[in-house]
Amino acid sequence: MYPELSLFIDGAFLPAASRTTEPVLDPATGGVLGQLPHADDADLDQALAAAAAAFVTWSKVSAYDRSRILERAADLIRERSEAIATILTLEQGKPLAESRIEVIVSADIIEWYAEEGRRAYGRIIPSRLAGTRHLVFPEPVGPALAFTPWNFPALTPARKIGGALAAGCSLIIKPAEETPGTALELARAFADAGLPKGVLNVGQPARVSGKLIASPIARKVSFTGSVEVGKQLTRLAVDGMKRTTMELGGHAPVVVFSDADPVQSARIAAAGKFRNAGQVCVSPTRFYVHESIHARFVDSFVESAEALTLGHGLEQGATMGPLANARRVAAMERFVADARQRGGQIRTGGNRHRNAGNFFEPTVITDLPDDCMLMTQEPFGPIAPIVPFRDFNEVVERANSLNFGLAAYAFTPSVQTANAIADALKSGMVGVNSLAISHPETPFGGIKDSWPRPGRRHRGAAGLFRNQAGHHG
Ligand code: NAD
Repeated sequence: MYPELSLFIDGAFLPAASRTTEPVLDPATGGVLGQLPHADDADLDQALAAAAAAFVTWSKVSAYDRSRILERAADLIRERSEAIATILTLEQGKPLAESRIEVIVSADIIEWYAEEGRRAYGRIIPSRLAGTRHLVFPEPVGPALAFTPWNFPALTPARKIGGALAAGCSLIIKPAEETPGTALELARAFADAGLPKGVLNVGQPARVSGKLIASPIARKVSFTGSVEVGKQLTRLAVDGMKRTTMELGGHAPVVVFSDADPVQSARIAAAGKFRNAGQVCVSPTRFYVHESIHARFVDSFVESAEALTLGHGLEQGATMGPLANARRVAAMERFVADARQRGGQIRTGGNRHRNAGNFFEPTVITDLPDDCMLMTQEPFGPIAPIVPFRDFNEVVERANSLNFGLAAYAFTPSVQTANAIADALKSGMVGVNSLAISHPETPFGGIKDSWPRPGRRHRGAAGLFRNQAGHHG
């Protein structure tokens, strides 16, 4: 079920041969799934040369013909979705049902970019000089680099590959070492769809970023991952004056007002919190619940957490898988230890689960101070801190107090409160009564450390949710 791993450079799948390798593990069992070859310096030089040569020709292919290839790749991903979803679950751990959705949405994202590539309109600017016209044409920036994490092994590469290729850029992508198989299957779909060689190149390990970013061939760097690594890659990019797109995580506040249904909102919030075992950058993370409904919200949240079935993502009935790597389990233990020390009450969970694999129980903690680890650092795991609040201004100040600004959520049936909180929360995306803020068609982005670039403000007409930082990929 798990494919032989390779590099993908200049249209060829290159096996390990004499290259250094590292094992890829099933996070649910610790068993070895395969051996990932590491690109050496000669491989990277070849990838850069291939991307440079392919950019010259691919950028001249018409937007229509580029879109046809992207659409074919999207169709192949849909046709192969069951096999790709199985690989995704094996290497990342999430339940197969979640992987299936991720793979289909990845195909939708590629298709969306295919369509948008044909709408890369320019502008005509009225001239101040008689007899002249000013025409503005968008042009692809050049060969691009992308570095993607392990939490969405199909979706994040799909965003970066789709955007780059539709615009006419060539791309070298480094998917996370934990989850290389899924991205390779995306590359296979593009190759089978007729993508010319060199337009897309795939390889690891992490240290390749230094050499690739330093190369004058690369003109753009796109990264999704932690703030720390994002800052490191941005520093490298600045030396070459390269454009960057950085998506560096979040710590989404959830504000539940007194007029919200505590049981219903807790069910929605818990489903969102424990999706992908909490390893989601827009995961609802800090729960501020009005003191009048705090107790009922906590009871309902705990009930939802305890109803989850932990298991291997391929097991029938498993509703939450393991964490993607052992680092996250150790991190969860640090968050829980700090919470206990700061007076937190563990309402459910709090421990490792099973003897093998990276399982951690869905955990709910109350009675925490705002300055504890869980309320200030990204847990990126299945732990939910729930604290009470008293009034609007107080909760807004607490919700906006961190240096993250990717997603934020609120629950209230009042349109007036919904509008007021959506305006007050300092966040790229705000979901009201819904956690469904990320779709192929909607912009995805943030502010502050979460997405360090100037954003455009967007207001959703439906008033259900709103995206403020208009940018894809
Ligand atoms: P990390 O900081 O070691 O790595 C984060 C990501 O960057 C990983 O995908 C990793 O493969 C990649 N990476 C690391 N060094 C790199 C380099 N030199 N060049 C290119 N890519 C590099 O953290 P981790 O232990 O993998 O994850 C821990 C934290 O990262 C989480 O707690 C979370 O805050 C953050 N994270 C965020 C997202 C997101 O979607 N924003 C995804 C995964 C991880």
